[in-house]
Parts: sequence; structure tokens; C-alpha cells
Amino acid sequence: MIKEKADKDSFQSGASSEETSKGKVSLVGAGPGDPDLLTRRAWKRLRTADVVLYDSLTTNDLIDEIPENTEKVDVGKRQPDPMTQEQINELMKNKAEKGEHVVRLKSGDPTVFGRGGEETEHLAEHEIEFETVAGISSVLAAATESGIPLTHRDYSSNLMIVTGHQASEKRGSTVDWEAVADTVIAGGTVIILMGVAKLPEIVQALQDYGVSKETPAGMVEKATWDSEQVITGTLETIVSKRDKQNIEPPAVTIVGSVVNIRDSVSDYLIK
Ligand code: SAH
Repeated sequence: MIKEKADKDSFQSGASSEETSKGKVSLVGAGPGDPDLLTRRAWKRLRTADVVLYDSLTTNDLIDEIPENTEKVDVGKRQPDPMTQEQINELMKNKAEKGEHVVRLKSGDPTVFGRGGEETEHLAEHEIEFETVAGISSVLAAATESGIPLTHRDYSSNLMIVTGHQASEKRGSTVDWEAVADTVIAGGTVIILMGVAKLPEIVQALQDYGVSKETPAGMVEKATWDSEQVITGTLETIVSKRDKQNIEPPAVTIVGSVVNIRDSVSDYLIK
């Protein structure tokens, strides 16, 4: 423990075992959006960075708290002319090679559908020192902060996280929807990211593989933002509820009995 702490502190102060003019990169999880859910380590890095490269899901509340004279670059995919992943990798590398401390700020946790792994591979390939600072993923924040426990001794003992992005491409999809359905049937919790638009296909795929239409399902849009919305229903009702409530990305969908817990506790849930 003590050793780890010492190493982390030396990372921050810029000391390195071998003296070099190269900079370094901190891949930092920004959490779900509310700055209160950033880790202390993430704050330290944001205060001392030379440049912060941030994604589109990073909230203004958070950006506003980065020191004024720190260079901030929006490398998000919602820009009119977004950078490719290769361009982001290059920018990160070039800045570090000039001796800068780069913070690569990513929503939630950097490695949960965040391409954090690809970025660390690129840095290692170019012999650039890096660290990864864990963040509170939307997987955790969306459920936990809205009163949906991801596991519960009486209802669910396992959790599966999938992308809904390719739900309609059943054959070529990297997600095995039969395995997802089996998880729900076995009583587990499934949480789907990037699945707002494809929700009808997701619901259909689960039912095709035997999941009951009565299975509880919920959606949390913009978890922890001021504009957060939560809906609950069943696989049968969730698509029409999504439309009625105008649920838009970013949102997660949670499928499994644990969703019912929210309904039984929400009167006392402080928001
Ligand atoms: N690394 C991120 C996920 C990036 S993929 C994390 O750990 O959370 C982008 C997807 O994450 C979105 O499509 C959405 O499904 C989910 N997401 C990110 N932030 C969210 C938020 N505040 N509320 C709900 N879903 C969110």
C-alpha cells in the first residue's frame, strides 16, 4: 500500500526513475457527470495538468472547475468535425513527447466502453509513461444513485454489462444475445450501455431467446446530471415509456428483478 502511494505521488510531481524530457499521460475517469463524483486523485490531476483532452459526455460543471490557464481540448465525437481515434492517440502522444502532462479525461471509467485500453496500448508502443485513474462508471452511478441495487441477496447475484450498439446485427454482433438472455433468465442483472436507439431490437432479441415480457426493466438518462430522468416498467412497456418520456442518450437500460426495488424505495430516496 505504502509503496503504491509513493509511486502515485511521484507520478504527480513529475519525478521519474530515469531522467527524461518526455511528458506523461493520465487517463482519468470523470465519473457520470456530477463533479462531486470525481475521485480525489482525478481532481489532483486536473489541477496540475498542462492540457486536458476531454470527451463529449464531460459536463460543463466539471470543465468549469479546471484551472483557467490549463489548455482544454474537446476531442468528443459530438463535435461537428470530430477527431478519429487515431488522431486523438497522436495528439496525446505528441503533447506528451513535448514534455507536457496530458490528462485524457473520459466519462465514467476510462476502460468501460471508453477505448482506454486502446489508448494505453498506443502510449506503451511509443514508450510514454501513463497511469489510469479509475472513475465511477455510469454502470454503477445510474443504478445506485437511482435506488436500483445492481445485486441483491434475494434477487440477483451476477451482473452483465453489454453494449446495445449492435443489437440488430444478431449474427455479426460481438454481443451474444442468447448469453445475455440466459443471464436474465438465471436471475442476473443486465445493464446495457449505448442502447437507447436500438431498444426495440434489444427487447425483441431478449424475448426471442426466452426472456419473459414481464421482466422488470428501467432506464436512467443523464444519471447525476440536473436533467436526469428515470423510468421503470417491464420489457413489454419499456419502449413506449422511453418514447413517452423522450429518453435520449446518454442513458443506460437495466433489466432484471432488481429494478423493482426502486419502486418500493423511491418515496424515501433523496434527490
Ligand atoms: N466509460 C463510460 C461509458 C462510455 S460509453 C462509463 O464508464 O460510464 C457511453 C455510454 O455510457 C452512453 O451511451 C450511456 O449508455 C452511458 N453513459 C455515460 N454517461 C452516462 C450518464 N451520465 N447517464 C447514463 N448513461 C451514461
